[in-house]
Amino acid sequence: MRILIVEDEVRIADFLQRGLRAEGHFCVVANDGEAGLSLALEGDFDLLLLDMMLPIMHGRDICQHLRMKQINTPLIILSAMDSLDDVIAGLRMGADDYMTKPFSFEELLARIETVMRRSSEVTVEEQCLTVGSLAFDRQSLRFSVDGDVINMTAKELAIIELLMSHPGTLFSRERILSNVWGLNMDPLTNVVDVYIGKLRKKIDTSEAESMIETVRGLGYRLNPKV
Ligand code: CA
Repeated sequence: MRILIVEDEVRIADFLQRGLRAEGHFCVVANDGEAGLSLALEGDFDLLLLDMMLPIMHGRDICQHLRMKQINTPLIILSAMDSLDDVIAGLRMGADDYMTKPFSFEELLARIETVMRRSSEVTVEEQCLTVGSLAFDRQSLRFSVDGDVINMTAKELAIIELLMSHPGTLFSRERILSNVWGLNMDPLTNVVDVYIGKLRKKIDTSEAESMIETVRGLGYRLNPKV
């Protein structure tokens, strides 16, 4: 793969470059944000590894800029900023994964593999998903129920897309967490249940029976009959 490393700490950039080259990848290093952005905009990279605290331009701005320009190269943030808020902000800006420094090279390789697998799945996926009265257009990110467009947050869309991609399949909370939040979040968190509640309010037309079925103690599934 062709990998762009945007990292101002020479020691870390070298470490990444040497390790990735040994794995057979071709690497280009940019040592400041501006150079990183212009290289990333030229495209032709299969993967971007992006530091956050960079000279000239912050990693967050690079990430935002790329996604705004519809450049969807898989992107992993490697940052010393390790608060949950930083991680969530990074993922919201369109990063595919977020690793906090220090990290192990082995773990980075595993994360790269996952991100690349996910991105290749997306390219072969069909553009429009429909299940019963629900329709989701992956290109425009437009979600509708019976033809009425519903406003959804990014996380809500990610969950409904996951459920719609395999109607009738049971998804555990852990699987939804790792697919949608992409993090090793505390499996005891109730964030999935909270979001399912929000989704139900938006998509259910009947109060008696939700399209998203709760399988007690196991997880959720989208009922394809509805
Ligand atoms: Ca830095």
